[in-house]
Amino acid sequence: MRLLMLAPPGAGKGTQADRLAQRFGIEHISSGDLLRKEVAEATPVGMLAKSYLDQGDLVPDEVVMKMILDRIVDADTRGGYILDGFPRNLRQAERAYEVAKDLGLTIDAAIHLDVSHDESIRRLLDRHGSQGRADDSEATIRHRLEVFETATLPLLNYYEDRGVLIRINGEQSVDVVTEEILEALAARGL
Ligand code: AMP
Repeated sequence: MRLLMLAPPGAGKGTQADRLAQRFGIEHISSGDLLRKEVAEATPVGMLAKSYLDQGDLVPDEVVMKMILDRIVDADTRGGYILDGFPRNLRQAERAYEVAKDLGLTIDAAIHLDVSHDESIRRLLDRHGSQGRADDSEATIRHRLEVFETATLPLLNYYEDRGVLIRINGEQSVDVVTEEILEALAARGL
């Protein structure tokens, strides 16, 4: 099972990805979590990535690709994966596809959680209060949403053209969102 989540910040990607990973016994690979870990451990990748994370900008493609591709290929040998936060732009998606295609590992479904700007902002400000993530301040949230619109949203067409896009209304309760994802996957024989 090879899945990916495509959703704006605050849409519930991480929560849903965790649930799907448990349900299918696959690995949850979050590029944001991996990058935050590198930053916390002050590794060379972390030192390079820190200012991008702080500003809410995308970390350069080469850095992210190098960090994540091996993990994806590795997770594939253990039943599959759900990607959360990767790919984040067309170039990452195309590069990942080239690698995956050669190895026969292309994704089965791309799950889009549709959540309005206002709702994303509301949820992220809530999370800032409870989890204190540095990039959840209001100015950075607005910038991350802009980055999502310009860099990541075009991936909807990319995956729709490949016939693997699943669209879900992400403003419903967490349980209903999970249920609808599972139904849509089942309808595709997954
Ligand atoms: P997230 O946890 O998915 O909201 O990601 C937090 C931050 O990590 C983003 O604002 C980016 O700075 C960085 N990041 C996560 N995934 C990627 C990616 N695939 N490409 C570039 N930057 C990323």
